[in-house]
Amino acid sequence: MKFFRPAFAFVLLIAVGVAADEPPQSDTTRIPGFTAAASTFERSLEARMADLLDPESTARHFRLLTAEPHPAGSARNLELAAYVRDQFVASGLEGVQMHSYDVLLPWPKKVAVSMVEPVEWTASLAEDGYPVDPDSHGVGAGLTYLGMSASGDITADVIYAHSGNPEDYDWLIAQGIDPRGKIAVVRYSNPYSYRGFKAWEAQRRGVAALIIYSDPMDDGYRKGDVFPRGPWGPASHIQRGAITYDFIVPGDPLTPGWPSLEGAKRIAVEEAQSVPLIPAVPMSWRDAQPILENLGGPVAPPDWQGAMPITYHIGPGPAKVHLEVEMDGGTRSIQVVEGRISGSEKPDEMVILGNHFDAWVYGAVDPSSGTATLLEAARVLGKLARSGQRPRRTLVFACWDAEEWHLTGSTEWGEQFAAELGRGAVAYLNVDSSTSGSNLLVSAVASLNPTILEVARDVIDPKSGRDLLAIWQETTANDGGAESMIENNLGSGSDYTVFLNFLGVPVVDLTFDGPYGVYHSQYDNRYWMEHFGDPGYRYMTAMVEVWGRLALRLANADVLSFDLGQYAATVRTFVASLREITRLEEKLDLTAVGAAVDGWQKEAEILQQKIDAALTGDNAPPAGSFSALNTALLGVERELLLTNGIPGRPWFKHALYAPRYTYAAMSLPGVREAAEAEDWETASRQLKLLVERLQAATAATRRAAALVPKP
Ligand SMILES: [Zn+2]
Repeated sequence: MKFFRPAFAFVLLIAVGVAADEPPQSDTTRIPGFTAAASTFERSLEARMADLLDPESTARHFRLLTAEPHPAGSARNLELAAYVRDQFVASGLEGVQMHSYDVLLPWPKKVAVSMVEPVEWTASLAEDGYPVDPDSHGVGAGLTYLGMSASGDITADVIYAHSGNPEDYDWLIAQGIDPRGKIAVVRYSNPYSYRGFKAWEAQRRGVAALIIYSDPMDDGYRKGDVFPRGPWGPASHIQRGAITYDFIVPGDPLTPGWPSLEGAKRIAVEEAQSVPLIPAVPMSWRDAQPILENLGGPVAPPDWQGAMPITYHIGPGPAKVHLEVEMDGGTRSIQVVEGRISGSEKPDEMVILGNHFDAWVYGAVDPSSGTATLLEAARVLGKLARSGQRPRRTLVFACWDAEEWHLTGSTEWGEQFAAELGRGAVAYLNVDSSTSGSNLLVSAVASLNPTILEVARDVIDPKSGRDLLAIWQETTANDGGAESMIENNLGSGSDYTVFLNFLGVPVVDLTFDGPYGVYHSQYDNRYWMEHFGDPGYRYMTAMVEVWGRLALRLANADVLSFDLGQYAATVRTFVASLREITRLEEKLDLTAVGAAVDGWQKEAEILQQKIDAALTGDNAPPAGSFSALNTALLGVERELLLTNGIPGRPWFKHALYAPRYTYAAMSLPGVREAAEAEDWETASRQLKLLVERLQAATAATRRAAALVPKP
């Protein structure tokens, strides 16, 4: 059942962009981009979709997807690709197909770690089984390893290098400890950095081999009860994962920037910039403890101490470890499953819903919760379409493979269909892990903020029965500003990367988050989900509703609801944060970029006023008359792409965002990265290019404004 909920005043301000001193308008529930009449129709359509939702249907998909381990390239994952395809067909999607790509995806032949001094001991490199959870024992979860690790056979002294971040090695070197030739043991978190960055940094420092372990301080008993009693990681849990240097270029390492189709040109593996050269192994804290216990040297600093029952020393020695990794160097076939609901009016304009289906083991949270969500979304949206309620624009459903390796499937597909997507992609909506709890987390390009907030207002939070927007505001201790609820500065680490950074398509990334200490371990399984993550599948179902409503709003809008004023305001905060870089204001003149942002905001406001007038007038123009305007709006984000990408990473073309090597977000990357490195010549050249892109977006905004039909 749906309840009518009056608009909160602050949401109205954000949603329709009126100045704070204006009285509220009568159409308080108008959806951004819709006329009042179309809003009413849209809401009733979405309510019909919500009525079709069935947690049991989501649960059935989820249980099948998590029944067995299904890493990329495995026979089981191929079976699941076929299952996704068949479900798409059963849901009535059109043009259902599997795209196959052959990509570098080496599997391990051997992974072994033992201590040779001062005591002989062999690491188990395995996770315990528990009688209550059949998935935790008896099934071949396979060798525990890090994807794209180099092969190597190394015996060396050990050092403890905290999180393996640059400042950690700097500190060690300051203590007179040379990391070169050593085996470095590092923690996963504290502070977080992508494990591939840890490998990169270790390689750069001349470390011989890397062990990355999960400290109980970060995701184990220090956080709360551990599996199977609670959601945190037990002593033996191992976080697998890839260490690909996909912060330089994602996708198949041998086809950087083009699709790895049959017959495609492939570079030699030695030339591939994203392939690590260092052997690396993931470890549980149960296996890491004996090694760290046998380290001498100075006591590690207080914030390097973890929660194992020992005092952490930094070494080197006396612990000496023998580490062996043998990878098969293999190329394997991966599948992207695609299906569509063709738009009734604008079939070439596409809203894309995507999730990956490959997992490290069972992948309950990551990614099967998202895959089950995608399949349920396809079912209910397919049903609506078959009942005659076809969206105006096309909905594309995409299920990606090998995300866990190098964001592979989405990157190859995006590279293959770059031209079509460049012309017609309205937005890409990503759900990787759908559910590990009940806290909504959203990252998005700021132009989509108002639409996202409006969607949350129309969804009921399963636990509280209140609207999701209100709960979301409470959990983010928020005063109502979109800025502090939605992360508008985007890094990397999931499949939206190719859309945002390579294609210039606005993106949204959605998840329900909660206490989750079993990421990429075999305990991320059905038992965990049904006991801790989402008993009753209520939040997966809520995610189908959030995702489905968002997709329908973008697909059905009279006018594509990109709030470019809010986008420009966000870019202003990016520019302001440049000023925090040491000596930047001495070296760079930010006047022109400030003026470019102001100019864009001004044009955006003129555009928004015209659109609001057209949509709220008594005689709204017929829907078809917005066609040229929508084509123009669709092109604005593309104007923000740099022809040659950012320095050193030409694949990353967006002028406003790129991931740091840690995956953390870095706004205005061309300028910022050079300025942080005090390369002022590059920074100043990049600043000029940034101004040009902002001016191009401004010109595109002005062209769009000229195309708004008169009410
Ligand atoms: Zn994932």
